[in-house]
Amino acid sequence: MSNSLKVPKVAMKSKKKTRYWRLTILVFVLIITTVLGLLHQYGQFKTVGIDALCPFGAIVSAYDLMFTGVILKRIALSSFILLVAVIAIALVFRRAFCGLICPLGTLQELFGRMGKKILGRHFTIPRWLDQPARYLKYVILLLVIIFTILTGQLVFRPYDPWITYHHITSPELFTEFLLGFIILLLTIVGSFFFDRFFCKYLCPMGAFLAPFNKLGWFGIKRNKESCINCQACNRVCPMQINVAQSSKINQLECIGCNECVNVCPARDTLYVAGPRDKKKITPGLVNILVVAILIIIIGTTTATGDFQWKIPTLKEQVIQAGEIDSSLIKGKMTLQEIADAYQIPAQFLVEKLGVNEEDFHKPLKEINEKYGLTTETVRLIVDEYIKK
Ligand code: SF4
Ligand code: SF4
Repeated sequence: MSNSLKVPKVAMKSKKKTRYWRLTILVFVLIITTVLGLLHQYGQFKTVGIDALCPFGAIVSAYDLMFTGVILKRIALSSFILLVAVIAIALVFRRAFCGLICPLGTLQELFGRMGKKILGRHFTIPRWLDQPARYLKYVILLLVIIFTILTGQLVFRPYDPWITYHHITSPELFTEFLLGFIILLLTIVGSFFFDRFFCKYLCPMGAFLAPFNKLGWFGIKRNKESCINCQACNRVCPMQINVAQSSKINQLECIGCNECVNVCPARDTLYVAGPRDKKKITPGLVNILVVAILIIIIGTTTATGDFQWKIPTLKEQVIQAGEIDSSLIKGKMTLQEIADAYQIPAQFLVEKLGVNEEDFHKPLKEINEKYGLTTETVRLIVDEYIKK
């Protein structure tokens, strides 16, 4: 290839840097979400559960919100805000959320890189099995939505590898999340051998976002005149898309990682552009804009108080409710919190429940068995005090 047809060395270096930046963003989001999950379980600063920080929860509870006005248990307004951000990103940059933000995608990429290093290569599933298996994720999406609507519960939760990842140190791992743990293991082991194993075959979020590859404004184009058929794009594509033979890369499977664009050595051959090739932009700018959309939406809604990061304390919930409502009491709360929130003298609860000083500071679910209590009993005693 003559020099004039090659991407100049400086530009090639900058493309390499863009690839590192993409990985850095992915790892950063994985670290942040992992820390939030740990803070929820162990921290003093009680963050909301990971369900409330996942846009997929909003997809499956959208029906309940629209027709009953109720958000499913564990889902919060923040899930819907994240879904709006993901859709906004998809309308502009297609499935860039999958290729640039999704922390479950990051886990797969990290184990995938490990697999490639150790095994020296990655494997592909034979086409006769791979192609039909890719439809599985659409079936899963449909089933999850139907069963969530029918039951009014987050039916996917015990199978969700992302929620399971956040329960890896929890005693519920081998009870409530046993199947999720098996799917998480399958995801990790699968991605060790095959690129983005979960994304290709099992991810319902990917299935939801796939149609945006036909609708999103910016997309990848290939100039077949200048293509030298080196196959570098095909080799790097984690979703095994035949980039080298396509003129537009708008296949449902593309996760918008722009890796193909960043490895192409031929000048002006693979590029990101709007419709009719107007407004070409670099993959580096795509990275910046995707992160900016996310930060602007989360930042603004955090400032308005709509995006919740922290679970309100019982006292804050009672004040917010504006009336004394004992149904706010949950098994994870201590008698001390309950006494503070409803302004009940500790002595009254101790005498009524026969609880010792030490257990007064433990969650109800931990002391229920010892004293033969239920959360409902505590609610009734609180009601009794309030009516006095
Ligand atoms: S076609 Fe390009 S952008 Fe799409 S998944 Fe493959 S490498 Fe990533
Ligand atoms: S990387 Fe793909 S698009 Fe670019 S020159 Fe090689 S075959 Fe053509």
